[in-house]
Amino acid sequence: MSYCNVILRGAVKQTDVLYTYKIPETLEGKVVPGCLCSVPFGKGNRLKTALVTEVTAECSSNYKVKEVSGLVSDLPVVTEDQLAILDKVASRYNCTRGEAAELMIPSCVETHKNKSVAFVEIADKDEAESVLREGSLRSSAHINILEYLLENGPSDRKEVLYGCRASASQLKAVIDKGLVRSYKTRAEDSEVTSEFEFEDVPDRGFTEEHDLNTDQQNAVKKIMEGDKAVYLLYGITGSGKTEVYLNCARQTIENGGSVLYMVPEISLTPQSINWIRGRLGDSVAVLHSRLTDNQRYVQWDRIRRGIARIVVAPRSGVFAPIPNLKLIVIDEEHDGSYRSETHPRYSAKEIARMRSSITGAKIILGSATPSIESFYAATHDVYEMVELKTRARKQARLPETVPVDMKEQIKLGSGEMLSVPLRQAISVALSEHKQIMLFLNRRGYSRTLVCSDCGTAATCINCSVAMTLHNNKRTGKQNLVCHYCGYTIPADTAECTSCGGIHFTRAGFGTQQLEELIRKLYPTEKVLRMDQDTTMSPKAYRDIIDSFAAGEASFLIGTQMIAKGHDFPNVTVVGILGADLMLASSSYRASERAFQLITQAAGRAGRADAPGKVFVQSYRPDLPLFRYALTQDYEAFYKAEIEYREKLLLPPFKAIGELILSDENEEDLIVKANELKVYLKDFLSYQDEKHGFELFGPMPDVIYELRGKYRMDFVIKATTKSALNAIYKKITTDFDYNRYQISFNNDPEN
Ligand SMILES: [Zn+2]
Ligand SMILES: [Zn+2]
Repeated sequence: MSYCNVILRGAVKQTDVLYTYKIPETLEGKVVPGCLCSVPFGKGNRLKTALVTEVTAECSSNYKVKEVSGLVSDLPVVTEDQLAILDKVASRYNCTRGEAAELMIPSCVETHKNKSVAFVEIADKDEAESVLREGSLRSSAHINILEYLLENGPSDRKEVLYGCRASASQLKAVIDKGLVRSYKTRAEDSEVTSEFEFEDVPDRGFTEEHDLNTDQQNAVKKIMEGDKAVYLLYGITGSGKTEVYLNCARQTIENGGSVLYMVPEISLTPQSINWIRGRLGDSVAVLHSRLTDNQRYVQWDRIRRGIARIVVAPRSGVFAPIPNLKLIVIDEEHDGSYRSETHPRYSAKEIARMRSSITGAKIILGSATPSIESFYAATHDVYEMVELKTRARKQARLPETVPVDMKEQIKLGSGEMLSVPLRQAISVALSEHKQIMLFLNRRGYSRTLVCSDCGTAATCINCSVAMTLHNNKRTGKQNLVCHYCGYTIPADTAECTSCGGIHFTRAGFGTQQLEELIRKLYPTEKVLRMDQDTTMSPKAYRDIIDSFAAGEASFLIGTQMIAKGHDFPNVTVVGILGADLMLASSSYRASERAFQLITQAAGRAGRADAPGKVFVQSYRPDLPLFRYALTQDYEAFYKAEIEYREKLLLPPFKAIGELILSDENEEDLIVKANELKVYLKDFLSYQDEKHGFELFGPMPDVIYELRGKYRMDFVIKATTKSALNAIYKKITTDFDYNRYQISFNNDPEN
């Protein structure tokens, strides 16, 4: 008789414990750690889905033990290393183990109907191609089957037979020859084969291998032979980081391992997917948000069965059940999309490290503008620095950059949106039938005041971050609040920290106003506008990108989304508008983000033969940050930024966490916030000094009212993230979690 311990999928706090069930004889040997089963739960014996964490011979429970009622999936749904990090994930992100399990098991696993479908695929692409080339197959049915599978990838057996007008024995013959293999998977219907509606794999020019230059060869060697777990592959745009990833991936697969290749969701375009498939072959599985449940299931199932050896995926792919995971590539590692914005607020980079510590997988973080934390770790012997110094592509060159002082431009009568030099460049570009990108990052500053004299945002005197405008309902007046230390002043008493000015305005204009102006100035030109990422579906986003790439519009206006890695060879003018307002965000990461965005946006111009021009419009064109970004001088930027972080004890020097208390009733909320403050102060006063706790708040959240609730924040700093977590844990046990509605954000890395 054997027993198993399980966690309920999506368990709430009260049910987040291990439950023991008896394994019925019929399921003996089938219920193994990592599999998903259904169990009767509670008084009503309602069936719940549960993840098996352990199988034991002895029963560890004193209660009457019920029996497992069935398996949801006949194979384990998570790998051993995933099971091993379950507790760690739960404690790091303050979620239940059930919620952690939820991250690892996509919903398609359960919703998928239990119907087995036979699939077939090419066993070895090279061999199949050479057999076809040599003409050694005599049966036309055999040839048809190979060609069909080469073209369509893994396919439903029935569809193959139908599509090739072949018989079962003809298919069996190519399987017996070892050219094709078959396997079973579960599917709702045979539609699953039409996996992507995407274009054909591009011609050979894109898929052909490139010889590595010396820099790249050394990088591959350093990574594959090194003994560190994490490698920061640092190299300017065009230095050929991708070739290094691909070479490391190939070596890893040859050594019997599997590879996780992560890219920001936005970069997973049909073109890039086809390109990756073209380079890496049929053993690639791709996960992304546009997949239907069925398509997702097919990909996921190929991954857990080890049929797919390389998994290309955005953030959520870090939870894919990849057996024998030996290499994790995180491209554009600084990208904010690697961190989840909803509970549990995990960071894919941190999860990758947890998995690597179990499987021994190497991690390559790649970027031209690494996050400050990563660069710090790489220069302090925590990560290994691997640098690519030379450009692999000769034709890539830096665009010409033109800083524009908007103070002068406004005096000249240009208005606050488009400066005269930028307008002139636009006219030239239009006359040459070139395209123009205008980049306006409105995020985070709409609630900021800027100095009318010099354009600097109202800044906290303690923290050097922009303060946020809040209405005080009781007094009817406006306050400026710092969201790190809680420093608050009436808005009408603000004084400019840069020039001493006392006149402030709510500056800034939106993409919509900019679009209107462009339409007025250039009525015959077509304009595309891309808005906040949160309000856009991936499809709408793609449609705009495709349309612009096809030359259907002269202008593309947008926020940071348009700055990300797309190549538009016909773009010769890039305008970065309101550049200094990027810094007027209430986050300490504002400079880092601004630097990354300007560098990326500038990189959109002049990538082909036509030389590009980049205009940076700001009130403070002399800010060093702009100079660093426009000359792509990451190291100069890093040096300035790390000094600021060290001075103010911000990450990586101290961990910083945010605690948000919310309530529908504003007065109740303020009472609770003060209770919590008393409690926290008392609790922190007798903690060991080595933890370096600092408490700030309560203060209104940047978004004070959200979905009918008011929100107050505390900011806590500590020497380590685990010290912060200990505080959070203590609060959740001491306070009534339901009545208080507390959420935590333990600053996951970007
Ligand atoms: Zn402050
Ligand atoms: Zn000023």
